[in-house]
Amino acid sequence: MTDRNTLRTYRGKRDFDRTKEPRGRPGSGGQKPRFVVQIHDASTMHFDFRLQVGDVLKSWSVPKGPSSDPGDKRLALPTEDHPLEYEEFEGVIPEGQYGGGTVIIWDHGTYRPLSHDRRARPVPFDEALEHGHATFWLDGSKLHGKYALTRFRGGKDGGEGESWLLVKAKDEGARTNGRATPDPRRARSVRSGRTLRQVATESRGAKRR
Ligand code: MN
Repeated sequence: MTDRNTLRTYRGKRDFDRTKEPRGRPGSGGQKPRFVVQIHDASTMHFDFRLQVGDVLKSWSVPKGPSSDPGDKRLALPTEDHPLEYEEFEGVIPEGQYGGGTVIIWDHGTYRPLSHDRRARPVPFDEALEHGHATFWLDGSKLHGKYALTRFRGGKDGGEGESWLLVKAKDEGARTNGRATPDPRRARSVRSGRTLRQVATESRGAKRR
């Protein structure tokens, strides 16, 4: 396991006296695992795709965002594990801080692991990820159906240079009408209905008060 797989890396990058991002605590467990997709207007605009595995959110930065078109293969670059409460984070990370910029919660919900071995036995989700291929069913407000994450570059132990693809499977949730990808600047938070710009403006207003 590399450092990326603990919250130590996450915490080491952040000054929690300066940013309102959560510090992280152990998860409760028992319920269906959660997923969240955030839009992050940082030095480069990207989507953050996060799946709960145990008491952390396994995380990938997806520059173009998830697509509901099975023909689109979306590059997904692993980032450090995030605490479960990060699912709730929407707001502005101060300039000069790690990941400085605005974050909205674009979609969230639960997911069902689908990975099976050759004898059709279910494979634990963390094992599937370790082996570099995991399939799962998303039940979100915007994203629905089966998706796959597949590692195509980089070793089993992770580290720099590891690359994955996030791809929609063909099912009733698939869309091929050219509207399969959200425009990050027009997209609205599933939680507050706000755009990135509205969240940024309201945050500046709140600070002046
Ligand atoms: Mn990000």
